[in-house]
Amino acid sequence: MVIKHRQKSLVIKLMSFLHARMILPEKEVNNYLNLVKGFEGEQKSDTWLEELSKDYLIVHDLLLEYNHSKFQIDTLLIAYEKIYLLDVKNYEGDYCAEGDKWNKLTPKKEIKNPLHQLDRCETLLRALLTNLGYRYPIESYLIFINPEFHLYQTTINPSIIFPTQLNRFLKKLNERPSKSNKRQFNLAEQLISLHTIESPYPYLPAYDYDQLEKGPLCSKCFSIFTEMKGLKLVCGHCGCQEEVESAVVRSVDEFMLLFPDRKITTKGIHEWCHIVKSEKTIRRVLKKNYKRIGSSISSNYVSRKD
Ligand SMILES: [Zn+2]
Repeated sequence: MVIKHRQKSLVIKLMSFLHARMILPEKEVNNYLNLVKGFEGEQKSDTWLEELSKDYLIVHDLLLEYNHSKFQIDTLLIAYEKIYLLDVKNYEGDYCAEGDKWNKLTPKKEIKNPLHQLDRCETLLRALLTNLGYRYPIESYLIFINPEFHLYQTTINPSIIFPTQLNRFLKKLNERPSKSNKRQFNLAEQLISLHTIESPYPYLPAYDYDQLEKGPLCSKCFSIFTEMKGLKLVCGHCGCQEEVESAVVRSVDEFMLLFPDRKITTKGIHEWCHIVKSEKTIRRVLKKNYKRIGSSISSNYVSRKD
C-alpha cells in the first residue's frame, strides 16, 4: 500500500523551464538530463513495486535529517518485522567495480561508489529511528532498474539487485508474511511528517527575466508556442494545440516558480505570454483563475491557495 507517492522535484521542473527558454552551459544540461534520467528510473521502480503485496507500507521519496545531516531515501518498504531501504539507480551501459572503486567503461570515468551512499543512508536512518523510539532491523538494497545495465565485478554483493533479479526479489518479498499494524502506520506517518522540501533555487544556474525567451510552452514537447488560431495555441514543433486559457495558466504558474518575488500583473503576463496579443484575454484568464489584490490599474494576482 503506497502511503506517499513520488512527485517530480522542483529542481527538475525549474530546469525544464530554463532549458526551454535559454541556452544553458553544457555542464548544466548534463546535470539536468541526469536528474531526469534518475527520476525516470525511480518512476519505473515505483511501477515495478505495484506488484508488491498490499501488506507492505510503501513510502517514496523522503528527504530526512538527523543530527544536521540530510539524507535522501528513494523508497522505504515498511514490513511487520523489518524495514527495507531501496536506492534506485537508472545506470545504463557497462560498469566495473574493483574493490571500492567504481568506473563507468567507455568512456572510462570513475563514479561515486553507490554502496557508500547506501551505507550512509542506512546509518542515518537507523539513528533517526532509534531516536524516535523504534527498533527495526533495516535491510538495504541498491536496485539497478535499467535492463541495459551491466556491472563487471569479482565479488558477490547480496545487497545489489540487478535487472535480471528484479522479479525474483519481488517474489521473495511477497512470500514473507507481513501484516502491517498500527505501529507501522504510525512510523510511516511520522517519517512523512519529518520529510523536508529543499529550496530548489541554490541548485539552479543563474538566470534573469530579460535573458529568457517568452511565450507559453507546449505541454507535450516543451517548445514555445509559435502560433495562435482563434482561442487555441499551436505548437510549431509537435503540432499539438491547446486552449489559450490553460496554456496561460501554466505559464503564470511557471512564472511564479521562476520569479517568486515578482508580482503577477496583467501587463507583466501579457509580456510573458506575448503570443497572446489581446491584453483583455490575459486579464480575463487572470481574473478567473487567480485571486485579485487591489482594484486599481496596479492590481496584481496571487494563487487562490495563498
Ligand atoms: Zn509541442
